[in-house]
Amino acid sequence: MTSEAREYEGLSALVTGGASGIGRATAELLAARGAAVTVLDLDIAGVTKPLLARRGDVTDDASVREAVSSAAAEMGGLDILVNNAGIGAQGTVEDNDDDQWHHVLDVNVLGMVRTTRAALPHLRRSAHAAVVNTCSIAATAGLPQRALYGASKGAVLSLTLAMAADHIREGIRVNCVNPGTADTPWIGRLLDAAPDPEAERAALEARQPTGRLVSADEVAAAIAYLASPAAGATTGTSLAVDGGMQGLRLRPA
Ligand code: NAD
Repeated sequence: MTSEAREYEGLSALVTGGASGIGRATAELLAARGAAVTVLDLDIAGVTKPLLARRGDVTDDASVREAVSSAAAEMGGLDILVNNAGIGAQGTVEDNDDDQWHHVLDVNVLGMVRTTRAALPHLRRSAHAAVVNTCSIAATAGLPQRALYGASKGAVLSLTLAMAADHIREGIRVNCVNPGTADTPWIGRLLDAAPDPEAERAALEARQPTGRLVSADEVAAAIAYLASPAAGATTGTSLAVDGGMQGLRLRPA
């Protein structure tokens, strides 16, 4: 294996929502390239070695603090935090009630606040500290039926910028990735629930200029880059991994 392939050797990472989809692909990539990696997830039954795992709920501050401190103790520190745990919501402002708004914002926004707060004392001791937040194309594009989800990811984008400003003098970089529709178990569940899953998949594919869904591995590669020492001059930015959705303005075919 080349030294580049082991570029995370000696670094420790925590990936929230790392038991499935984008988080899982990220945890596996970082571990394959030499990092010690702990997954923090509601359900860790399927997480296997070399990944370490802590059961935790990002909506529960005590559970987050316990998972972060025991993971840092087990790995001998913490250099990389991937704030990835998140849930979806569909509908206009008329479709989601206050309880749904509170819950999605609690998971998608406050969840990142809690894990970051718990991780900061450990990140401050790292020479290569990096936080990567999983945001979404929904933060910057006006997608129909995504009022609540889009608002939660808009908050993640702003949070990323604020955290990057607050912690750069401490040597901690903070960035986010904005995936387009990615082929993960989440999207599988969404398609299964649609009246016509094949038509729904075709519509999601057509929304992206590449004409296909993004893979979890493609998002993981972007997260891993932003978390790597090679990205040492990059902070306060968002990297779109969206098949051209955000940047391209194409005429309909
Ligand atoms: P997924 O459902 O496959 O995986 C999400 C993981 O997060 C699951 O393992 C789940 O158990 C965990 N999780 C959920 N709530 C949690 C909580 N309260 N505490 C701890 N863990 C919790 O989803 P995915 O598609 O891999 O999505 C991951 C992230 O990517 C999310 O933040 C999502 O908003 C974002 N994203 C996904 C897409 C997409 O199309 N799949 C697009 C843009 C952004």
